[in-house]
Amino acid sequence: MDFVPAARIQQLPPYLFKEIDRLKAELVAKGVDVINLGVGDPDLPTPNHIIRSLREAVTDPRTHQYPSYSGMNQFKVSVAGWYQRRFGVELDPEREVLTLIGSKEGIAHLPLAFINPGDLALVPAPAYPVYHVATLFAGGHSHFLPLTAANGFLPDLAAIPEAAARQAKLLFLNYPNNPTGAVADRGFFEQVVDFARTYEIIVCHDAAYSEMAFDGYRPMSFLEVPGAREVGIEFHSLSKTYNMTGWRLGFAVGNAQVLAGLGQVKSNVDSGAFNAVQMAGITALDADQQCVREMCRCYQQRRDVLFAGLDRIGLHPAPLKATFYVWCPTPPGFSSTAFTSLLLRQAGIVTTPGSGFGAPGEGYVRLALTVSKQRIAEAVERMSKLSL
Ligand SMILES: *Cc1c(COP(=O)(O)O)cnc(C)c1O
Repeated sequence: MDFVPAARIQQLPPYLFKEIDRLKAELVAKGVDVINLGVGDPDLPTPNHIIRSLREAVTDPRTHQYPSYSGMNQFKVSVAGWYQRRFGVELDPEREVLTLIGSKEGIAHLPLAFINPGDLALVPAPAYPVYHVATLFAGGHSHFLPLTAANGFLPDLAAIPEAAARQAKLLFLNYPNNPTGAVADRGFFEQVVDFARTYEIIVCHDAAYSEMAFDGYRPMSFLEVPGAREVGIEFHSLSKTYNMTGWRLGFAVGNAQVLAGLGQVKSNVDSGAFNAVQMAGITALDADQQCVREMCRCYQQRRDVLFAGLDRIGLHPAPLKATFYVWCPTPPGFSSTAFTSLLLRQAGIVTTPGSGFGAPGEGYVRLALTVSKQRIAEAVERMSKLSL
């Protein structure tokens, strides 16, 4: 029998990590000590106070039943409190906060609520692949906004053709940015609000890395800008902030009508995040944020080791203020995949080719700071022996 997948599956872009995974498995089988700078998954454990909170919550039978669709009230109140303390933004926990089973879940479902077949979404490139794929799944098309060194890895809104802007329903943004590590300032977000108002576009700002920043820099929320709540929502995740990628907990905040649309999709697809996990999430958001400061210190040290090493071998990525991704230009004469392949075969280092995140990512590789600084030093040592 031959079960032919639906067209939406057949139109998917090739899986970014397929060839890398194959090569990596081959090297590991040969006994090579592989250093993995490929995946954006924190290597550090979830802080103890959050684990203890889950342990306690899970023994309470009341957490064992179906959660409420839009999220536990107490969790949404904690989100609003955290937002107020962190960004000075007031939120109505009832209407302006929605619990998600990880932010990826919310991002992936959003186009189903607002994209009709043939509609456009404005999607940055390079970018987290979910924005484009979720648009495709809803029957829409992506109009790609190139992020380049020349524009500071911020989309040039003025360069979007008038027709595309008129047709667009959604604008995806992500700052601090995966994969480029770029950050956005207030001026940019103000332009976004103006643009979204003019063309009546819903802004979806993915702020998964808002807490992962260095040298005292504090990324801002899109919702801090006047008018933002009228045009958009912001996605947050506990995954990167508290090393909870496996727990699946995130949230969306902002425009009540947009959140209601997303909530309507969700209530027909999933049944909410496990209450015990939401209880642990409350602990994470309410507690002193010392663990977050320690996490940032750790990534900052790793960043410094990697940048010093890259500098010695003649590679000069833009300074990194936030995220654990280093967006490194390839040496002259190397495409993204050629350099990725050289690093893997000759140095046992896994990286991600920039071109895998969209065509404008050609000429870069992404290195994730998700191994210890000793291992990063070892990776740099191996790189210095390559003839580039
Ligand atoms: C890691 C990541 C997420 C999401 O993570 P969840 O674990 O689903 O909350 C969202 N956006 C970007 C850009 C990411 O890198």
